[in-house]
Amino acid sequence: MRIGVNSGSLPKHLHELERENSVEALVTAAVEFVELMERLDFEDFKVSIKSTSVPNTIASNRLLATKIDYPLHLGITEAGTKWSGSLKSAVGLGTLLADGVGDTIRISLSTFHAEEEVKVAWEILKALKLRERGPVLIACPTCGRLQFDMDTVVAEIEQRLEAYEEPIEVAVLGCAVNGIGEASHADFGITGAKNEGLIFSEGKPLKKVPQDRLVEELFAEIDRSLKVGRTVVDESKAAEGAEWLQRIEDENAGEMTPERLAAMEAAAANADDGDEADAVTDALVARERLTLDEDASPTAGRRFTRA
Ligand code: SF4
Repeated sequence: MRIGVNSGSLPKHLHELERENSVEALVTAAVEFVELMERLDFEDFKVSIKSTSVPNTIASNRLLATKIDYPLHLGITEAGTKWSGSLKSAVGLGTLLADGVGDTIRISLSTFHAEEEVKVAWEILKALKLRERGPVLIACPTCGRLQFDMDTVVAEIEQRLEAYEEPIEVAVLGCAVNGIGEASHADFGITGAKNEGLIFSEGKPLKKVPQDRLVEELFAEIDRSLKVGRTVVDESKAAEGAEWLQRIEDENAGEMTPERLAAMEAAAANADDGDEADAVTDALVARERLTLDEDASPTAGRRFTRA
């Protein structure tokens, strides 16, 4: 049984407190209901405080968790559309769950497709690594080095992954300029260049493929490996892929990418030696200046569009 209070329907005797401190009012109401249940000899229930306000939901559930020992049910009431409601729920419920507060959750979206609410709930739980269920897709944020039509590729991969139940992690990198180390934890991944791309697994190349076969070949590799319960590696194809990757890395050794920029910033911040930090920062600034020349864009004429 679930009992609880909603910010829109607090008992009358708490309206004044609500005006002064809405979080206190919500928690007081919830505790009063709990005490009523105990007087009636009910013990098997969970408690929810629902509010349309994300900060109030977080604050009231944190406070309630210090006052009662019953399981808490979390939700942002009337959260909104699929887009805004998912974000509000992820922020509110994610914050509480990361604190260890909350036992069950409900996502409330303005949609007739209730399964969307379930999907969002699972994504929140998976993101916090509280539950494993089905694949996790990770993708780089893209930048000027992007060398293929990643938007549609990621969307297609996400859709096709819905058919899988295995908790595999699949990575999509917009380019191979940084190598594939960034996604070395992924079970499977792809990265693309001008005409060709690479399928990789756990940071190691599996094979290079034509750009327009990236998605098909990725799923062929996933299926093959899942069938036998381990990643299947064809050594000659893997070697060919590694050679291709090395060539891409060598060709772009001087390119400044978000990952390299972050690495240099971290080096500058961590350097014990002040002179060394200055030198790294100077190099960083010089490279940034170089990349500001739009005419010299590394992707000029190299973008790939899927038919
Ligand atoms: S440099 Fe990084 S962010 Fe930019 S496209 Fe390549 S992998 Fe994506």
